Amino acid sequence: MTVGEALRALEAREARLLLARATGFSEASVLAHPERALPAEAAAMFLEFAARRLRGEPIAYILGEKEFYGLPLAVNPAVLIPRPETELLVELALARRPASVLDLGTGCGAIALAIKRHLPAARVVAVEASAAALAVAARNATRLALEVDLRHGLWFGPVAGERFDLVLSNPPYVAEVDPHLAQGDLRFEPRSALVAGPEGLDALREIARAAPSHLNPGGWLLLEHGLGQDEAVRLLLGEAGLEQVRTWPDLSGIARVSGGGLKS
Ligand code: GLN
Repeated sequence: MTVGEALRALEAREARLLLARATGFSEASVLAHPERALPAEAAAMFLEFAARRLRGEPIAYILGEKEFYGLPLAVNPAVLIPRPETELLVELALARRPASVLDLGTGCGAIALAIKRHLPAARVVAVEASAAALAVAARNATRLALEVDLRHGLWFGPVAGERFDLVLSNPPYVAEVDPHLAQGDLRFEPRSALVAGPEGLDALREIARAAPSHLNPGGWLLLEHGLGQDEAVRLLLGEAGLEQVRTWPDLSGIARVSGGGLKS
């Protein structure tokens, strides 16, 4: 394959991103100077990136980076790639101005770090079961100079006896049989970050049940979920004894986050 062929096979924006990474030039500079000769090493690197992309590998894994809520975050195949719809969860969290926050299943740290950036005085704890993912979150926290208390373990395991103003999570919520798992970026992402039982509700159920004993009076639980899961999640929140249960739509109009509060 030639550089020209690889360029034509990729979407223009992705090609520019990969070329910028391979050359060390900015995306704007790559766009502005198409006549500039490509050093052999950069051309070889670009061709390798392009071949990986054409095999379906997510662009974020090839670049090793993804932007979320204005933060540049390191990512690798140990973590789910942060999604734009998850920014809703951060917005709802920030609006509540919590003094203490617990992010369950933090992955690369996206949610916890975005909250810490905008609420610097808040105590932010982030839990992650995968040691490899936790290492990525730690790297991001250091790089961004944001102090988040990272803990290794499953859901509320590492925060026994602790309570927070806000508990939130983007847990795995894809159903085992969902055909999307065989498509696009999802094929390359960690299954443990995506799949949660036959209906995708296993993690959401586990978190909802245990949340009240980790919330301060008047504290809130906010959970991201998938298309068509909002009614089931509201039911879980109600069964757990939470009040004022409601759902918020993301920018595409999909019911995406549900939450409820503990009586004050
Ligand atoms: N929103 C992701 C997707 O369907 C799923 C992420 C998750 O399970 N938390 O692509």
